[in-house]
Amino acid sequence: MSTLFLGGDIITMTDRTAEAVVAEDGRIVAVGKADELRARYPDAEVRDLGGRTLMPGFVDAHGHFAAYAMSLLQLSLRDARDMRTLLDSISGRRASTPEGGWVDARDYDPSKLSERRDPTLEELDSACPDRPLCLHHVSGHLGLFNSVAMRTLGVDSYRLEEGPFISAIQGIPMGSPEDIWHAFMEAQGRFASYGITTAQEALIKREMVPLVRPLIDSPEFWIDILGFADAAHRAEVMDMLGIPAGEWRGHLKVKGVKILLDGSPQGGTAWMAEPYLDGHNGSATTDPTDLRRYLREAAELGLEVAVHCNGDAACRELVDAAEEVGRDTGLEQHVVMIHAQFLTPDLMDRMKGIGMEPSFFVSHSWYWGDLYVELFGRDRADRLSPCWTALSKDMRITIHQDEPVLEPWPMDAVFCAVNRRTEGGDVRGEGERIGIMEALRAVTVDSAGQNREEGIGTIEEGGWADLVVLDRNPLGCDPSDLREVTVLETIKRGRTVYRRNRSRIGRRGSVELHQPLHRVQQGLGTMEEPEDAHADNLQLSKKWKMSADAGIRTRVLTLARLSDNQLHYVHTGRLWIPSSDIKVATDRMRSPIPSPSSIPFICLYKSTGYGQVKKVV
Ligand SMILES: [Zn+2]
Repeated sequence: MSTLFLGGDIITMTDRTAEAVVAEDGRIVAVGKADELRARYPDAEVRDLGGRTLMPGFVDAHGHFAAYAMSLLQLSLRDARDMRTLLDSISGRRASTPEGGWVDARDYDPSKLSERRDPTLEELDSACPDRPLCLHHVSGHLGLFNSVAMRTLGVDSYRLEEGPFISAIQGIPMGSPEDIWHAFMEAQGRFASYGITTAQEALIKREMVPLVRPLIDSPEFWIDILGFADAAHRAEVMDMLGIPAGEWRGHLKVKGVKILLDGSPQGGTAWMAEPYLDGHNGSATTDPTDLRRYLREAAELGLEVAVHCNGDAACRELVDAAEEVGRDTGLEQHVVMIHAQFLTPDLMDRMKGIGMEPSFFVSHSWYWGDLYVELFGRDRADRLSPCWTALSKDMRITIHQDEPVLEPWPMDAVFCAVNRRTEGGDVRGEGERIGIMEALRAVTVDSAGQNREEGIGTIEEGGWADLVVLDRNPLGCDPSDLREVTVLETIKRGRTVYRRNRSRIGRRGSVELHQPLHRVQQGLGTMEEPEDAHADNLQLSKKWKMSADAGIRTRVLTLARLSDNQLHYVHTGRLWIPSSDIKVATDRMRSPIPSPSSIPFICLYKSTGYGQVKKVV
């Protein structure tokens, strides 16, 4: 049985444009013009998109599916904005917790409380005097305990960080098998509602093996999970799972290993060479010798490696170690630097030399972007998740939410990467903002590529029919509206796994960027290569003029480049056209164009009403 999708925008995330797509037996079998595909597949069930947008299902670049599922069993303190509310939530949970049960709370974040401090041990004991209580910091890297919990776990401090915290919480019971099963089903449903069709469990620890096993053999799972085993116990985890690395079993594939090299910036535990403003540096959470041993073992076994690095010292240590291991073994290795929050341009150059890629946790800009200024000063805070610098060096980047740290909401990551606004109304590093297409790539095709997975992240013949239907085309959105983009339907291998309640469908987006590349090529048929396209330090604001109809009111323009006779998006930004002269009006559009020598052709076009733009000079 084949299904023909048409009647809406289709973002293929490839160089090809499409009016229609045919899915058959879980695969995409045809992409092309509506009339042609109708003729070729006369018996196909027609799915009219009704003006909505079809794009590939999102591919999670980094997150923790099982940990997210388990977090659903915990009390969330994410909305607590003052100590009273936080303590009341704990008391409320305590009242409904049977005697002997744990009050296990997540998302505790003192930076969001008006008091800006941890609750004291006395406050925790008064809110929960007779049941063990744990408050997991939102970063997952530290936490607080009440007196009962301290006694139960045998710890002597009510606040623990990193290793001691991680080992202490192993003593907290996980919940009944029924509760856990329910949480996994709920998690899968939530991922579907966010449009994710391939997720990750980026740290499979020994005690989690029983949790992830059902992914291998239960028919109730449809979501695919890319797993990374805890490097410290790799052999044991793989033995317990009983599946070879790099092969699918059911819906789980273990790609390789995960190494945690430091903590979190917002928790004050990221490993910084240049210290926090209060003078402390954080520290490594994996010994340098162990780091090199894990990398070497993985290289010899051909395993992929994901390494959690936030601080500048952690980023540097990883690059140093990977270069050393590469030299010593002569083996190529695929390492992804996860979070890469304080990655510096010099390290990016070295990473390119060894094929290492960054995955940025750019949503820190919204959630902790104001706190970063207090912790690191404005200048460094503005350099968090340097997405644009990496793109300008022609690196493949991805963006992620690191669930359960944040909700696994790809359009939130896209919004944050494009806007870099903070919750407090500031902008965190305007020059590091990226375009909408670049951000969408970072949660689809580039996430698939970075994870070395084929057949996902694009809409093309032979790929899986993993798709999402959105209420509007994100490429036509005002950047500030990107979080409003709503997933209406999620399709996994041709089967609908999520459909938003129709009564809740939002307004239909004003989608004017229909098949953008195709139109642009038509509309700009007379483009000529500018004389100075190869000039060094090409500055958009200085060099570019557009011979356009006078008086066009243009809001969003996209910068593209031509190679292999195809236009590729490079950037989206705002322009004002007072007459025929274009003035580029935002910082990011004034950014130097990435490696000019690698760009044979650059053009600007208007992403709405392109037809008015005639020629780029
Ligand atoms: Zn993580």
